[in-house]
Amino acid sequence: MHDFLFKNGELHCEDVKVSAIAKEVGTPFYLYSHHTLVDHFTKIQKAFATVNPLICFAMKANDNLAVLKTLADHGAGFDIVSVGELKKALKIGADPKKIVFASVGKTEEEIAYALEAGILFFNVESVHELAEINRIAKKMGKKTQAALRINPDIEATTHSHIATGTLKNKFGIDLTSTRKIFKTQKKYSHVKINGLHIHIGSQIITGAPFISAIKRVMEFLEVLKKDKITVEYLDIGGGLGIIYKDEKPQSAQDFADAVLPYLEKINLKIVMEPGRFIVGNAGIFVTKVLYLKDNGLKKFVIVDGGMNDLIRPSLYNAYHEIVPVKTNKSKPVKVDVVGPICESGDFFAKDREIPKMKKNDLLAVMSAGSYGYVMSSNYNVRCRVPEVMVREKKFAITKERETFEDLIRGEHVPAFLK
Ligand SMILES: *Cc1c(COP(=O)(O)O)cnc(C)c1O
Repeated sequence: MHDFLFKNGELHCEDVKVSAIAKEVGTPFYLYSHHTLVDHFTKIQKAFATVNPLICFAMKANDNLAVLKTLADHGAGFDIVSVGELKKALKIGADPKKIVFASVGKTEEEIAYALEAGILFFNVESVHELAEINRIAKKMGKKTQAALRINPDIEATTHSHIATGTLKNKFGIDLTSTRKIFKTQKKYSHVKINGLHIHIGSQIITGAPFISAIKRVMEFLEVLKKDKITVEYLDIGGGLGIIYKDEKPQSAQDFADAVLPYLEKINLKIVMEPGRFIVGNAGIFVTKVLYLKDNGLKKFVIVDGGMNDLIRPSLYNAYHEIVPVKTNKSKPVKVDVVGPICESGDFFAKDREIPKMKKNDLLAVMSAGSYGYVMSSNYNVRCRVPEVMVREKKFAITKERETFEDLIRGEHVPAFLK
C-alpha cells in the first residue's frame, strides 16, 4: 500500500498533485510520501510487537535527512555502512544506542568515529576487522560491542547482485571461523562479542530463505551453548521484498507469522534492518517527455531523467511501473522509455505498453524510493535532481537540485597546463 493514487485523473502524493510539484520544482525529481514511510515502519513494528525488535532502518536504501528524521521520530534506529551515514544519522538527532554498523571494509577513521559516538554494536565481517576494532578501542580507552555477521550459506532467490548469504559472496564469517572467534573472545579485551548478525540478500519475497537462515542460527546457538557461550542480540538483517510488478511479497504480518515462532524460541533481543520495505514504495521518480522517436522497428519515448538518476533498470534489469501523471485514455503503444545519456543501458523500460505520450507529458516511475537517489551520479555532467517530501497537503524540497557550481567544486586545472 502507498499514498500515490489517482484522484480526478491526476496522480497525487497524499493530498498534493504531482503535476503541481513538477511545476514548482521542475523535472526530474524524486518524491516521497511521509505517510507511506510511517505506515510501512509501523506495519513492521506492529507485526513483530511480541519480540519488540529494534528496527534499524538500512539507510543505504535512502539517506535523505527528512526520511531519516521521519523514521527516527517514530522510534527507528539505523543500520549504517559508512561514517558518512553515521554523520547523517547523528545530524538528525538519532540515538547512537540505536545504531548498528555493517560493512566488510570499515576504515580506522570510521571505526574511531563510531566508537566516539557510542553506537550499539558493530556488525563484524571478519576476524581481522574484529582485531582492528579491539586495537582502536583499546587505544581510545573505549569499550564496545560486536555482533558477528555469520554467512549462513543460504541461497536466497533474488538477483545475483543482491544475494549476500552464500560463501560465494564476500559477506560475513563462515560458521567454523565464527565458533573459533567466540572460543578465543578473551583476546578482544575492549570488544564484547554479544550478538549474531545475518543478512542474506535483498528483495526476497518468500519467507523460506529467512527461515532456513534462522534455523541455521538456532543450530549454531546450540553449538555455542555447548561451548558455554551466550549472546544478547540476534540481528536478522533486512531484505524484505516489495511489489515492483506482479510479485506477491509477504506482508510484514506474513513475514512475522512465519519467523516469530523461531524468534520467540530463540529469546534474544531482536534487531531488524529493513530498507527497501520501508522506503521502496514510499517514493517515485518524476520525469518529463522530451521527444518521441519511431525508427520503423521500435518506438522510443525520450525523457529528461536518465540512468544517472535511477540506475536500477540498467544495473539489475529491474522493473519499475511507469504511469502518466495525468490519466491518459489513449490506446497503449509499445515503447522503450529512455533517457538522454550516451549509453544503450540508459533506459527505464523496454517494450512497455504505455498510453501514447506527447512532448512535456509527465511520467512517474513508481517504487523508486529505495536504491534510487542514493545510487545517482553526475555521469554526463548532469546535476543530481531534487528530493521532495509530501506530508498531507504540504510539500517541501528536502534536497535541492544541484547546480553546475556544485559539480565543479574542488576541480582545478593545474598550473602546468596554464
Ligand atoms: C542492504 C542491507 C540491508 C537492507 O536491505 P533491504 O533489502 O533494503 O531491506 C540490511 N542490512 C544490511 C547489512 C545490508 O547490507
